Amino acid sequence: MITIDGSEGEGGGQVLRYAAALSLITGEPFSIENIRGGRAKPGLMRQHLTALEAASAIGNAEVSGLSVGSDALTFRPGSIAPGEYHFAVGTAGSTCLVLQAVLVPLMLSAAPSRVVIEGGTHAMAAPPFEFLAHTLLPVIEKMGPRVSAKLERHGFFPRGGGRILVEFEPAPLRAVELTERGEYLSGEVEAIIAGVPFDVAERELGAMRKVLADWPEEAFTSRQLSANEGPGNALLATARFEHVTEVMSGFGKLGLRAEKIGKTTAKRMAGYLASGAFAGPYLQDQLLLPFALARGGAFTSVKLSQHTRTAMDLIERFTGTRFRIGEREDKKLLVEIER
Ligand code: AMP
Repeated sequence: MITIDGSEGEGGGQVLRYAAALSLITGEPFSIENIRGGRAKPGLMRQHLTALEAASAIGNAEVSGLSVGSDALTFRPGSIAPGEYHFAVGTAGSTCLVLQAVLVPLMLSAAPSRVVIEGGTHAMAAPPFEFLAHTLLPVIEKMGPRVSAKLERHGFFPRGGGRILVEFEPAPLRAVELTERGEYLSGEVEAIIAGVPFDVAERELGAMRKVLADWPEEAFTSRQLSANEGPGNALLATARFEHVTEVMSGFGKLGLRAEKIGKTTAKRMAGYLASGAFAGPYLQDQLLLPFALARGGAFTSVKLSQHTRTAMDLIERFTGTRFRIGEREDKKLLVEIER
């Protein structure tokens, strides 16, 4: 039994989701205290509860302490059962984060699976659907398993109501060297709005144009969804390279100026472009689990995030796999699996 202090390191929900995935894969039970102890509102929220229920359903796990607000739980894994599943967060809690708890176990299981998740698809502090579909899953495919995702309906904070469908064709993970992004192919920005005044999109794009000044005018577009998918607003900046596609995002929020959202999102993209690295700040922590289980490989990345450091410690505790961080001659950070 591994015991975790949920307030250590990054202190958020990620440790719960990765612990559940690692527990299902290794067969090692865990208990966690001070759940999300590093957050302003600690304890399990709907999204975390759904993620753990999802992990428990696909892995026949016994879990105690599963309720909203709970600050401690114990998770005893059973065997992974691929198949058809449907999970609903019931709020705008992120569908992509619920997926984080079951993604790796299902892509390594014995048969295909089909999973529908309902909740938020474009909300703060979580991967938007496009990051999942265009950034993360194509990298997973390079490693062997095929996982495809379809956005069936958008879900924004606070209403939720979004829906994604994820299909798994499992395969063993192979170690890959993802050190070069390859040639730059194209960059584009899309401002999505649903039931929100159209000038929000225009103002966001205006602020982004100023930062990404060498991107062509036609690279900046907006899309209006039907008002009943909203209210909501998401800003997606995508850069395509030969070997990787990076999606940086920003989300509208009451009281947050559209210009500010645009500028912050564009700066994030500019930072990634300037780094020359393969993995941006979010792909970084999301690649750790597949890399550790492939028992080898390397990727270049930007400065390590606190999410990444916390995930590295957790992965080492469950699997014994250690990561080596180095700096290459060209100053890019190199994350390697120690063998
Ligand atoms: P936590 O804050 O512990 O709930 O974990 C958040 C997870 O969502 C981490 O795996 C982050 O890498 C990921 N994440 C947060 N924001 C984004 C974003 N804008 N794009 C992609 N992934 C994100």
